Amino acid sequence: MRGAAPAPPRYHGRPMGLEAALPTDSVVTTQLNRVINWARRSSVWPLPFATACCGIELMATACSRFDLARFGAEVMRFSPRQADLLIVAGRVSVKTLPVLQRIYMQMAEPKWVISMGACASTGGVFDTYAVVQGVDQYVPVDVYVPGCPPRPEMLIEGIMAIQRIIDQDNIPRDPTGKRLPLNIALTPNYELRPQPVPLGIGTSNMQGMPLRG
Ligand code: SF4
Repeated sequence: MRGAAPAPPRYHGRPMGLEAALPTDSVVTTQLNRVINWARRSSVWPLPFATACCGIELMATACSRFDLARFGAEVMRFSPRQADLLIVAGRVSVKTLPVLQRIYMQMAEPKWVISMGACASTGGVFDTYAVVQGVDQYVPVDVYVPGCPPRPEMLIEGIMAIQRIIDQDNIPRDPTGKRLPLNIALTPNYELRPQPVPLGIGTSNMQGMPLRG
């Protein structure tokens, strides 16, 4: 015999959660694809490849003030096989590059890459023989987050951009079915703006800074 449906959880007297929006004794039907996309975008597990000062902003993103957990992506993993979002935060030396490539190859599919900050995307001010002048020459980058360093909000915007692509199942592939990098460059953001900001696969809104072809 079915018992009475449990009362929805409340916060300061107001109902909260999905149970507040939907009757708890009803059935919801949807497409399997939508459920899979929803689960994937709600449980992105990042692997922080933080090699320099950008890593401090990355850490701040997970702290209470910015609270990456709001987007289901706070479970930082240092085991590549348990991660699906590689965040390259900081400059990468030529000596470290094979480690980055190996980590990327060991990550679970479908996997995503964020290049966080000027150093990861272009080498930044370190125009030397010892520093990789853009990690996108060696691993496919999905989102470029600008700044030196980018603020935590900027990184969150990059993660949300990937989440929106996952949600829409709008993953570009070549004729052989191989996934292509999203190639999204975010606009530098110095003030809080309502989400979602406009973005498109393979586009850049950064004036005078075309993406690498
Ligand atoms: S982009 Fe700036 S903050 Fe980030 S690692 Fe390079 S120098 Fe440091």
